[in-house]
Amino acid sequence: MDADVAVIGVGTMGSMAMWQLAKRGVSVLGFEKYGIGNDRSAAGGESRLFRTAYMEGKEYVPLLREARLLWRQLEEETNNRLLTLNGGLMIGHESDQAIQNVIHCVDTFNLDHEILRGKEAEERYPQHRLFPEDIMILDKNAGFLRPELAVTSAAGQAEDMGASILRYTEVKEIQPDSLGVTIHTGERTYRVGKVLLTTGPWSGAFLPKLNKQFKARRLVLTWFAAKDITQFYPEKFPVFARMRNDFRLTGAPTLDGTMVKASNTKTPELVKDPEQLNRNVKVEEIREVGEAVKELIPDLNPDPVRASVYMDAYTPDDHSVVGFLPNMSENVLVASGFSGHGFKMAPVIGKVVTELLVDGKTSHSIDHLDPERYIENVT
Ligand SMILES: Cc1cc2nc3c(=O)[nH]c(=O)nc-3n(C[C@H](O)[C@H](O)[C@H](O)COP(=O)(O)OP(=O)(O)OC[C@H]3O[C@@H](n4cnc5c(N)ncnc54)[C@H](O)[C@@H]3O)c2cc1C
Repeated sequence: MDADVAVIGVGTMGSMAMWQLAKRGVSVLGFEKYGIGNDRSAAGGESRLFRTAYMEGKEYVPLLREARLLWRQLEEETNNRLLTLNGGLMIGHESDQAIQNVIHCVDTFNLDHEILRGKEAEERYPQHRLFPEDIMILDKNAGFLRPELAVTSAAGQAEDMGASILRYTEVKEIQPDSLGVTIHTGERTYRVGKVLLTTGPWSGAFLPKLNKQFKARRLVLTWFAAKDITQFYPEKFPVFARMRNDFRLTGAPTLDGTMVKASNTKTPELVKDPEQLNRNVKVEEIREVGEAVKELIPDLNPDPVRASVYMDAYTPDDHSVVGFLPNMSENVLVASGFSGHGFKMAPVIGKVVTELLVDGKTSHSIDHLDPERYIENVT
């Protein structure tokens, strides 16, 4: 045996899983086709939003509460500042489904929040232009994460505790059987007890039964200069998600004192082959987000000063798939399909998969992420 557990794909989830597995004393071997902290797929672009009042569903709140504690633990262990809680604004028409979900979350879990309307909202956060019947919900347990540093911190911590990572090593094939899993890289064969698949947008290639359920989607991040950048410092300008018709403008305050991130994350384009991701930004994409910024955050200059392209794996219901695969092997666990909102929960997913691999069960409620929901739909 080369290791008890192999983690294939040491990106966001893979690095956190390795950190948690190493903490439990499991011998763990990671395979990563690029470098650690690479920006080829889902982790890159300087910041990721952390939110607790969750528009994607109240079932995530307990996971997010624990994620927050684990982010702090990783900070303490590494001395790196990863999470800044400067608050988060969810903005939109009161009847918008996402806004309704956030209200439902804060009520159900009694989350620390404020609801702002009209003049009060405009005076508190004059950077945002509101429309009649727009409301703002301030989630006090929200803010931003530093994705590249988070991944390198978790992977580094795992290595310090004895884990090994094979960098620039692509796994070509896995062959599970009842006793373990054989891994082929093209150059060598490895034998391990169990495999965790955290290959993000590439996951479909390893999972014939779920292949059609994972779609890689392309997301363009854009940054804007401000007329007065001091108005967009983190203490004055919380992270935000703005729902407006078929647009979702999400963003973060300036991190380097020069630019504000504001991007359209509503309907990311499909990517046929993750290997062929088009990293060029089209003029229409720039123009479209610029027009939204001009309308909604008028004190930013509407021409992006920076743009870059990433991708994530999406599932049909936008909930990820975390679990052992029925009919495949009890030795292969998958954690993929985080559908554009997985970064904030990465450390708790690392803990959940560790519990599943080591104890055979998890203390967290993850029924909504069960792979079984897709298996019966497979044609
Ligand atoms: C632009 C953008 C903005 C986002 N904003 C937010 C946000 O604000 N808040 C939030 O919570 N979430 C956000 N998300 C979502 C979040 O970033 C992702 O859900 C999360 O990073 C997915 O992690 P992952 O581990 O599944 O994939 P990745 O981090 O992409 O990791 C997959 C890894 O697997 C490796 N790999 C693939 N195939 C192989 C192979 N065969 N052999 C070896 N290695 C392999 C890849 O190189 C990669 O390193 C955003 C995503 C994007 C793209």
